Amino acid sequence: MEGAKREIYEVIIVGGGPGGLTASLYTSRARLSTLLIESALFGGQMTTTELIENYPGFPQGVSGDELSRLMEEQAKKFGMETVAQEVVKVSLEADLKVVQTPESTYRCEALIIGTGTEYRKLGVPGEKEFAGKGVSYCATCDGAFFRDSQIVVVGGGDSALTEALFLTKFAKELTIIHRRDALRGTKIYQERALGNPKIKFLWNSTVQEIKGDSMVRSVIVKNVKTGQVKEFETDGAFLFVGLVPRTQFLKGIVDMDEGGYLLTNEDCETSVKGIFAVGDCRKKLLRQIATAIGDGATAAFAAEKYLELKE
Ligand SMILES: Cc1cc2nc3c(=O)[nH]c(=O)nc-3n(C[C@H](O)[C@H](O)[C@H](O)COP(=O)(O)OP(=O)(O)OC[C@H]3O[C@@H](n4cnc5c(N)ncnc54)[C@H](O)[C@@H]3O)c2cc1C
Repeated sequence: MEGAKREIYEVIIVGGGPGGLTASLYTSRARLSTLLIESALFGGQMTTTELIENYPGFPQGVSGDELSRLMEEQAKKFGMETVAQEVVKVSLEADLKVVQTPESTYRCEALIIGTGTEYRKLGVPGEKEFAGKGVSYCATCDGAFFRDSQIVVVGGGDSALTEALFLTKFAKELTIIHRRDALRGTKIYQERALGNPKIKFLWNSTVQEIKGDSMVRSVIVKNVKTGQVKEFETDGAFLFVGLVPRTQFLKGIVDMDEGGYLLTNEDCETSVKGIFAVGDCRKKLLRQIATAIGDGATAAFAAEKYLELKE
């Protein structure tokens, strides 16, 4: 990534997932000075998705890495500037928005937030201690370390199912531990998981503790119906029990719901004029690449109109 070149940008975008990259493509192409601040990899959650089958234009599917690369290249083509930093605070200075990272302070007229979500922690003993030592939140990142192993996946939604299906490439045996007696995910993923001979299920069960020595060796599982507790041997625990929006740094600045999702109008504008939100961090019905992209285009256009009316 490069560095910031101006004192005040017309638009700053926080987060370089599909929402932020699309917003950036549109604002740069509209010749607005644009800075995109991304703390990790361009592409956001797409970078941890092996195969994307439901993004239009790719009938054979497309890998998350490839789609990320293409979106980054397209946004950069129109001159967006980028910095590799994490935004920790946003404040207001009259009409200007002040964006702080541990390294720098940036100012802009319009701000677009596209910080997405992160995995919810299970919050059980051993989770922190064994993170990176058998506890993982990313199958694409860590799956290959579990070749011929016996592993558990905790959760029953889309993330848990897609990640479990991916992990069957490596694991000898995989058990999905789910607190209900039925899966929650999309039908096609449910069918694939239920029909996969490598995948077994522990229904009505929650993980109480993760145990091991230098690596994970077992999980303590409680049956929520019977109350029975048992130790279940495993080489790894992949945890997919939901997502939480990465919006902490905006608390007290813009309105959000009780879960921290940013509240916006249909133009993706938040409760503060000139601050917009796109993609998964915003309260909405469907969190997918296609909807993040729609938000990115809408917010960029709305930001452009906001800047025009301000002048
Ligand atoms: C396992 C899995 C599989 C999926 N499969 C599909 C699929 O097949 N099809 C589909 O359409 N969708 C899929 N999704 C959902 C899709 O990936 C998301 O809806 C989409 O990536 C959301 O885009 P976004 O731009 O809102 O946020 P994200 O992709 O989450 O990107 C947010 C970016 O913001 C950055 N960031 C966060 N906070 C800060 C900060 N404070 N400062 C600077 N940068 C910050 C992050 O590093 C990240 O790069 C999947 C998701 C997961 C987890």
